[in-house]
Amino acid sequence: MASTKSKFSVVLQNKCPRCQEGEMFVDPNPYHLNNMAKMHRNCAKCGLRFEPETGFYYGAMYLSYALGVFSSLIIFAILNFVFRIPTLWAFIIVALSWIGLSPMLFRFSRSLWLSLFTNRHRDI
Ligand SMILES: [Zn+2]
Repeated sequence: MASTKSKFSVVLQNKCPRCQEGEMFVDPNPYHLNNMAKMHRNCAKCGLRFEPETGFYYGAMYLSYALGVFSSLIIFAILNFVFRIPTLWAFIIVALSWIGLSPMLFRFSRSLWLSLFTNRHRDI
């Protein structure tokens, strides 16, 4: 049965974009770096293949980069112009936050990339 979760929350939770229930990644914690990129071959609930073709997730790398740059610019602007944190410190904070958040950004990008190319089943 299809749930009524928003597409964004499904992407954030790294759930299958078709049934919205199956887990995409083997380890739910993205900070277990040895397992960060390990994905199930197919959705356990609906059978959706999580890597439709070889090299499918190359596009997710560009998406990850673009999202990282965009969010970094916003965070930098807020730190520097709103909170008046000196430029060097704002840059350091942004760089450290990018490093710290990169496992989550990696998974978010893959999940978003797959959801862009997958239609939901409404009648399962
Ligand atoms: Zn599924």
